[in-house]
Amino acid sequence: MSYIDAGKFASEMNTVFKKYGFSGMLSRERIDAFYTLTEHMLSVNETLNLTAIKDPLAVIRLHYLDCAFPSSQIPKGAKVLDVGTGAGFPALPLAILRPDIEILAVDSTEKRIKYVEETAKLCQLSNLKTAVMRAEDGANDPALRESFDVVISRAVAEMRILSELCLPFVKVGGRFIAMKGKNAQYELNDAKRAVATLGGKLKSVDAVSYENGTEKVDHPLLVIEKISKTSSQYPRAYAQISKKPL
Ligand code: SAH
Repeated sequence: MSYIDAGKFASEMNTVFKKYGFSGMLSRERIDAFYTLTEHMLSVNETLNLTAIKDPLAVIRLHYLDCAFPSSQIPKGAKVLDVGTGAGFPALPLAILRPDIEILAVDSTEKRIKYVEETAKLCQLSNLKTAVMRAEDGANDPALRESFDVVISRAVAEMRILSELCLPFVKVGGRFIAMKGKNAQYELNDAKRAVATLGGKLKSVDAVSYENGTEKVDHPLLVIEKISKTSSQYPRAYAQISKKPL
């Protein structure tokens, strides 16, 4: 069974990416990888809850285009961590669009990580690795702590909590990219102290706006630079992080 015709899919990918200035990121091979990803995700989604977005054209905009925007904040050859990847977002689209980077995608849910691993294989993405992990545990592993050039996360937690989960993984000189919704500015204001406590400093708030049919989507990126090491007392246990956010 097919969810969308391959030709129609390719033409929609080209149109949408071109509209937002990303056509240079696409090739025949990459579109094929996105097609494989779409068919596989929608088919597995019949039995495993992976995404609420079932219309392949909406998948192109709300998942693939959405995940292309942060690419400009990821330096060439970067070592990247995706915290709370779920069904592989933004990790899978970034791995397709940026063969130069190396991504580790982590999530606390084993069945989602199994799915992402199997999908990366199916799409022949040798630059994407996965691990079942709670971020607050992984960040205390000396092999992972302060070892990533870029840590990125979409739709996982509010900024104060997310900063404690993500910033400890970032190398000094690297950055943390939070893919946020409409309330980004409010969340950022609330999280100023948390960001500073964890060794971060606001680099930029990048506006991301696009259309999904008649709906206008606003998904700003909060980009935080890591300017000093995170104290070893962070991250705390999850109960404390969520009960008493920094
Ligand atoms: N980033 C994906 C998924 C968002 S849903 C997307 O944008 O589509 C949030 C995911 O974060 C869930 O899969 C959940 O298991 C994971 N998660 C939440 N807290 C976590 C933590 N402390 N460590 C690791 N994963 C976490």
